[in-house]
Amino acid sequence: MERIRLVFLGPPGAGKGTQADKLQNDFGIVKVSTGDILREAVSKGTTLGEVAKIYMERGELVPDDIIIGLVREKVLQFEQFVLDGFPRNVNQAEGLDRLLETLNKGLTGVIYFDVSNEEVKKRLLARRVCPSCKRVYNLITEPPKNDEVCDVCGVKLVKRSDDNEETIENRLKVYYQQTLPLLEYYERKALLKKVDGNQPPDEVYKNLLKIIGL
Ligand code: AMP
Repeated sequence: MERIRLVFLGPPGAGKGTQADKLQNDFGIVKVSTGDILREAVSKGTTLGEVAKIYMERGELVPDDIIIGLVREKVLQFEQFVLDGFPRNVNQAEGLDRLLETLNKGLTGVIYFDVSNEEVKKRLLARRVCPSCKRVYNLITEPPKNDEVCDVCGVKLVKRSDDNEETIENRLKVYYQQTLPLLEYYERKALLKKVDGNQPPDEVYKNLLKIIGL
C-alpha cells in the first residue's frame, strides 16, 4: 500500500484535528499538530512555550523558523503522517517542500476542509477540551454525556484560551491573508483535494477516506 503523507488545510475550527485523530486511531498515521506541540510547550513552561505563548494569545503565527524546526523533528521520525495546522503560509510550505525532498518523503495529498466562516465561529465558541486527555468536544455538535465533564476522565472541560471572540477574529484574519494562498500553491502541484467540512464529523470522515483511498 502507498504511504500516506498528508497536509490538512482549512480554517481554525474546520475539524482538521478531529479528522487527524480518527486517521491516527484507525490507521496509525501519525498526527503532527503544530498547535498541539506548542500548547504542550506552553503548559510545560519551556523556552519554546514562553515564546510561542505571546503569539498564540494574539492569534498570530509563531515565527516560521521555529515551526519548521518542530515539524522537521517529527517528519524525520515517521514514514506516514498528517500535518495538521502546518504549513500556515507560503514560506512554511516552501520550507516543507525542501525538507521532504531531502528526505525523499513527498506529500501524497493536501486535503482542504471547506467550512463557512459562520460555522467556524460557532464551532470555536462551543469548543471545549479535556485538560487531562486533551479530547476535544463541541457543546453543540459533540457534547459530553454529562454537563461539561470529560466522558473518559470525568474532569471538567475547559475552553482553549485562544477560543475567545477577539482572538478568533484575528486567527481568521491571519488564515484568510496568509494560509488561504496555499490552496493555489497546492493546486498548482496537483495535490489539492476538497472535502465539505460543514457536515457532521462521521460524514466528513467517510468522504475523507474515499478521497484518500482508504
Ligand atoms: P491551532 O491549534 O492549529 O489552531 O494553532 C493555535 C495557534 O498556534 C495558532 O493561532 C498560532 O499562534 C500557533 N500555530 C500553530 N501552528 C502554527 C504554524 N504552522 N505556524 C505558526 N503558528 C502556528
